[in-house]
Amino acid sequence: MSELPYPYEAPVSQALFDRAAAVTPGGVNSPVRAFQAVGGTPRFMVSGSGPYLTDADGREYVDLVCSWGPMILGHAHPEVIAAVQEAVARGTSFGTPGEGEVALAEEMVARVAPLEQVRLVSSGTEATMSAIRLARGFTRRSKVVKFAGCYHGHVDSLLAAAGSGLATFALPDTPGVTGAQASDTIVLPYNDLDAVRTAFAAHPGEIACVITEASPGNMGVVPPLPGFNQGLKDLCAANGALYISDEVMTGFRTSRAGWFGVDGVVPDLMTFGKVMGGGFPAAAFGGRADVMAHLAPAGPVYQAGTLSGNPVATAAGLAQLRLLDEAAYAKVNAVSQQIQAMVSEALAKEGVAHTLQNASNMFSVFFTDRPVRDYDDARAQESFRFTAFFHAMLENGVHLPPSSFESWFVSTAHDERALQRISDALPAAARAAAEATAEATA
Ligand code: PLP
Repeated sequence: MSELPYPYEAPVSQALFDRAAAVTPGGVNSPVRAFQAVGGTPRFMVSGSGPYLTDADGREYVDLVCSWGPMILGHAHPEVIAAVQEAVARGTSFGTPGEGEVALAEEMVARVAPLEQVRLVSSGTEATMSAIRLARGFTRRSKVVKFAGCYHGHVDSLLAAAGSGLATFALPDTPGVTGAQASDTIVLPYNDLDAVRTAFAAHPGEIACVITEASPGNMGVVPPLPGFNQGLKDLCAANGALYISDEVMTGFRTSRAGWFGVDGVVPDLMTFGKVMGGGFPAAAFGGRADVMAHLAPAGPVYQAGTLSGNPVATAAGLAQLRLLDEAAYAKVNAVSQQIQAMVSEALAKEGVAHTLQNASNMFSVFFTDRPVRDYDDARAQESFRFTAFFHAMLENGVHLPPSSFESWFVSTAHDERALQRISDALPAAARAAAEATAEATA
């Protein structure tokens, strides 16, 4: 795992990684954590506080991953922890309805106008899988349109990624997904409304839904071009299909009403996760009441979950959402802008070609001087420079997402001290990026 020329300075993490690899495939429970894109030893974290994580070797890092989005108030926020402790003391799972899940659903519905009804689940994957099933059940159609570079969790039919050209029937992207599962998925280039128009014309009466990340963060941050989301909505409406906005990443992060609060395009169905769980496994899908009425037990489309609406997870999520007022979003946005400016300045100083893109407070750095509008653009960047940049930041105590195709995440807890540590780490990282060669990291 460590053929790359980066020193281990994490012997305890390395020992844990070796132990993990003996009992868990690749030593991790979610692939990106294994550092395969950048090489080296993933840091095993033992605690988090505010903007910091501490690893098993006792080193502290400024965290710019924030658990891939959920920790928007920073780690171990006292009020969230208190709500969790209070809930845990009452028991951890009842398998019955409870008031906590009603309160969380009410808070979500109050914030996001198109969300008339919501169903709680435990992961973003479950949310998108269920939304697709519901869209198919509601429309009695089979086909699903998704966009290359958009990730919606590891739902079989949505793991089909890019086939090139318009309206390409996707091939399964991973062994284990059958051709039959992928054959109802149409993968199109992102930000290309003509491709969507062509797909609807080629498959009249067959497309159940178009699913898109509200503002993609899974090919790096690639916001929709002006009019793209509205165009999707209009094409869906004109063709009797549902428009599903996946807000698992953007929901309650990019504004108090998520990306809907930014662009105002009204989806038929929406999916949520991450921030709404306060660091616990809670997610949701919802939207138009007439569509949601098709869900069991109100309607015929089956969907269920032993731990759905779990009392501890809903207490954490509700506590976190209640703390996320306009002042909190203003703080996260300001921190994000400061970090973006610092990164850009450091890279420019070393003459490193780069493009910073943001969607509200989500942002990423592409190692290219061209704007990134779709997955092909994202893949054209010089990722080897990111590898060198990433390791220099890590060595200097800043924990970035270990891939150049990810959003960076910040929190209300990122204070002046944390920003100073990022600023101190940047010059060496920018230099490393400037000096990197494709061969050294191949
Ligand atoms: N949808 C989007 C936009 C995501 O970013 C993710 C995860 O990163 C998912 C769905 C899947 O969520 P989960 O990892 O909770 O299954």
